[in-house]
Amino acid sequence: MVSITNHMPTAELQALDAAHHVHPFSTNAGFATKGARVITGADGCWLSDSEGEKILDAMAGLWCVNIGYGRDELAEVAARQMKELPYYNTFFMTTHVPVIALSAKLAELAPGDLNHVMYSSSGSEANDTNLRIVRTYWAEKGKPSKKVVIARWNGYHGSSMGSGSLGGMKSIHSQGGLPIPDIHHIGQPDWWSEGGDMSPEDFGLMRAQELEQAILELGEDKVAAFIAEPVQGAGGVIIPPATYWPEIQRICDKYEILLIADEVICGFGRTGNWFGCQTMGIRPDIMTIAKGLSSGYQPIGGSILSDEVNAVIAATEFNHGYTYSGHPVAAAVALENLRILEEEKVIARLQDDTGPYLKEQFESLAQHPMVGEAKIIGAMGSLALTPDKATRAKFAGKEGAVGFMVRERCFANNLVMRHVGDRMIISPPLVISKAEIDTLIERAWKSLDEGMARAKAEGIFKAA
Ligand SMILES: *Cc1c(COP(=O)(O)O)cnc(C)c1O
Repeated sequence: MVSITNHMPTAELQALDAAHHVHPFSTNAGFATKGARVITGADGCWLSDSEGEKILDAMAGLWCVNIGYGRDELAEVAARQMKELPYYNTFFMTTHVPVIALSAKLAELAPGDLNHVMYSSSGSEANDTNLRIVRTYWAEKGKPSKKVVIARWNGYHGSSMGSGSLGGMKSIHSQGGLPIPDIHHIGQPDWWSEGGDMSPEDFGLMRAQELEQAILELGEDKVAAFIAEPVQGAGGVIIPPATYWPEIQRICDKYEILLIADEVICGFGRTGNWFGCQTMGIRPDIMTIAKGLSSGYQPIGGSILSDEVNAVIAATEFNHGYTYSGHPVAAAVALENLRILEEEKVIARLQDDTGPYLKEQFESLAQHPMVGEAKIIGAMGSLALTPDKATRAKFAGKEGAVGFMVRERCFANNLVMRHVGDRMIISPPLVISKAEIDTLIERAWKSLDEGMARAKAEGIFKAA
């Protein structure tokens, strides 16, 4: 057996990676010619790689490392829990202390009567759970025809069969026979890309009213729930116009449709409050959680149910769960993460201090000649790239080509900023400092300049 350590030469690590590791959301054949960057460590907002580079992680991993890297407390809690009780399940009339403590804490933090948690190890699994919960809920209430879940184009809810179907990513639907039956998609509230000549407010209202049209077309007796992210993340950080969510809430109330807020990104401080539904002023019946729940230190997700939804589900044997639902080590680590978020006032600091500074600095990127719009809420932001700000034009050439060029330059400039099509997005750890924000903005500006120069050289810096 070869021992594989951080001290092997990068090229050897990359060759083994290309030979044996299948990466998610990647064209894996490509790794044979260009190896993956090998991340070897991390602290605060900074990653280190096998070449000794220090990289500013403006994505908090995959939107999850809310408290930053390198917190020993979480490692210590995990080690302690592994020694005491490394594993036990919560099937068959058993439970354990970490899952009890975490559930009580989540019930305290979650708004309203969202007081009951069913666990998973990821956001995808939690949304699969939600699909079964809402359909079982209506069946138990004597309305088994209420099965359809309405979701949105360009929403992201995971990549399993159920969650990938709920999501509205055509690239996911096109592989593996998705979507599964009884999922219906409506338009997203992305004014920049799709709002045409409408005002953002009118457009937001129109997109919300697509929910009402869909309910009327499908039949109220067929619709179980509506699922959406309070702010779309993977779709490009789409912050909806202010008119959107109040109208969605009105429609869900009017037709008694369960509202599922997918808080996998928005939860645990990302939008400046504990949950995105608080920022948006909505009252979900179910919240999906994962990512920031443990700041990514352990794989854990879940569904938080209202008293009413739980009461209906609790009356029957619900044949659902995962071997690792409520895993004791993951639960203990999540609880420690929540303690740090709360005691160190991480979310309050983001609201009152670093958040306003980040907003001001990030919005200043709109002065860059290629940035049409710079929008941010809490610590999730998006730059819409365009060759013509006045008309919000798309670039000539393939959509996303310029975004990819900028991302390549960010990578070279030791900044992790992701592109979604021709948007550049950030979601840094919530603990990012003002000095680190300055570095982020400097590197982003430089990368935008370099990306723009390349787009010009390739003749695609012009309207499509
Ligand atoms: C990441 C994400 C998921 C899926 O979570 P996984 O842990 O990757 O399965 C679901 N919903 C949203 C909003 C996400 O951002």
